[in-house]
Amino acid sequence: MELLKKRILQDGRCLEGGILKVDSFINHQMDPGLMKALAVEFVRRFAAERINKVMTIEASGIAPAIMVGFLLDLPVVFAKKKRPKTMADMLSTTVHSFTKDRDYDVCISREFLTPADRVLFIDDFLAYGNAALGASRLIHAAGATLCGMGFIIEKAFQDGGRRLRERGIRVESLAIIESLDDCRIRFRE
Ligand code: 5GP
Repeated sequence: MELLKKRILQDGRCLEGGILKVDSFINHQMDPGLMKALAVEFVRRFAAERINKVMTIEASGIAPAIMVGFLLDLPVVFAKKKRPKTMADMLSTTVHSFTKDRDYDVCISREFLTPADRVLFIDDFLAYGNAALGASRLIHAAGATLCGMGFIIEKAFQDGGRRLRERGIRVESLAIIESLDDCRIRFRE
């Protein structure tokens, strides 16, 4: 998506270790106009799927997910990183975070993820795919159906895209980064 690529080149910053910082427009300060354009593109790409729920993991997936849910007029549910005391019947799984280099548990109430759900998962980044695979385990455990996964930015040099696609998951990424070597942002054409 050209608009997004332009913005990443203009405002994104490379950090050591293959990390792209986009916190001036995506995951700290946010640009709602851009977020809406991204959501319109997700809706266009997944138009043929019969989705009835949008899912993400807190925190940075919530903004794009709620825009998509708003446009499709569908509920949005996010997996939580802390187990709420009040959540009784829940599903949980462990996810490894590469940006924070630690494991964490994510959980979701069975009340909001059920066998009737046909889910579109949305997140800001696809890196090694651990968060997305954790989400797909929750969806599977709930007996729900995963219709596809949409990411704002996929880093193709970290293996997540391959891991998801080889499991037969439909993956749509709005900008695919081939490399951040030498702190230069290179997109896949
Ligand atoms: P994965 O589980 O695919 O390895 O990583 C996905 C999660 O890690 C994303 O939800 C995102 O929050 C975070 N993440 C991974 N790579 C980056 C990055 O380059 N920049 C930022 N800001 N977050 C990232």
